[in-house]
Amino acid sequence: MDLGSLSENKVAFFSTQPYDKTFFNKYNEFGFELDFFETQLNPQTATLIQECAIVCVFVNDIVNEAVIKQLAEKNVKIIALRCAGFNNVDLEAAKKYNLKVCRVPAYSPQAVAEHAMAMILTLNRKTHKAYNRVREQNFSLNGLLGFDLFGKTIGIIGTGNIGKAFAKIALGFGCKVIAYDIIADPEMEKDGIVFTDLKTIFKESDIISLHCPLNEQTKHLINKNAITLMKNQVMIINTSRGGLIETASVIEGLKEGKIGYLGIDVYEQEEKLFFRDLSADIIQDDAIQRLMSFPNVLVTAHQAFFTNEALTRIALVTFDNIKSLLVENDIKNKAASLV
Ligand code: NAD
Repeated sequence: MDLGSLSENKVAFFSTQPYDKTFFNKYNEFGFELDFFETQLNPQTATLIQECAIVCVFVNDIVNEAVIKQLAEKNVKIIALRCAGFNNVDLEAAKKYNLKVCRVPAYSPQAVAEHAMAMILTLNRKTHKAYNRVREQNFSLNGLLGFDLFGKTIGIIGTGNIGKAFAKIALGFGCKVIAYDIIADPEMEKDGIVFTDLKTIFKESDIISLHCPLNEQTKHLINKNAITLMKNQVMIINTSRGGLIETASVIEGLKEGKIGYLGIDVYEQEEKLFFRDLSADIIQDDAIQRLMSFPNVLVTAHQAFFTNEALTRIALVTFDNIKSLLVENDIKNKAASLV
């Protein structure tokens, strides 16, 4: 790859948290120069990039055409996502401006799958409430009634790396697992997972867990029509991307009592909230405030990926992706066939 006179050794990180610095500094075995910015990448902050051919971004950085144009003008050549999803990157624009895009596709599917199950167990058995209760010397069980997961039907939408790992966990609990994906997986079928259509997933599942990417086909997959088809008291878990859920319809479903439980690790407007301490601020987003007011809603702030193993692999694979592009002009982990 021809990088002209620019430093091909320098990587500018955006949306950096303290743990990013720890892991990327620890695993910087190729000796890159690392420039960490706490701010999100967007059209205003792109101006911070100086003499740098590589930009490393995360889930809520804005990498639209306006930003990509600025990156190209600054001679940036590589956009390295340190995450799996790439819905925040305009891949057509990256192609147009000749920027390569790489990502970390399967750094720890188990981390996300295990968090999805943790959300199910918490919502069902109310361990978060029990924890607070006994600390106040309230040993009553009233209001903590759960249900057996054994024998329940779990519907999985998207059976890629994470969906597959989650299916194995659900089978381990003795659940019946049904799944929808644009491509059925014969290996999973051998394990007893039944692939079916989306309508059947909505109608027959006690618990629905979302593991497909956010794109034009999947945006607002969980909408008013879908919720109408679902069982009363259905549990919906979203550890994938916020835009899969039409928030207003889900709030309606919760108010009507149709949705019995909601666990979300991602939220459509999360870029204004997540990964920050806003405990002293007045939150302007009324939808998230309404969601958090329900006793049967559990919100975590995009932490499903957050394990030691995952952060280690994210750092190692990101550096390896960049090195492959610089040395071999090869993309190991393409964001899509476009780039
Ligand atoms: P993957 O690419 O391995 O799997 C995605 C699956 O979704 C594929 O099997 C694909 O065929 C399927 N799919 C695509 N379009 C579909 C559609 N219209 N309907 C149904 N299925 C469809 O991805 P993965 O590694 O399993 O990750 C899944 C998603 O999880 C990512 O897109 C990302 O948004 C999210 N994620 C979240 C976190 C977190 O911390 N919360 C961490 C990693 C990934």
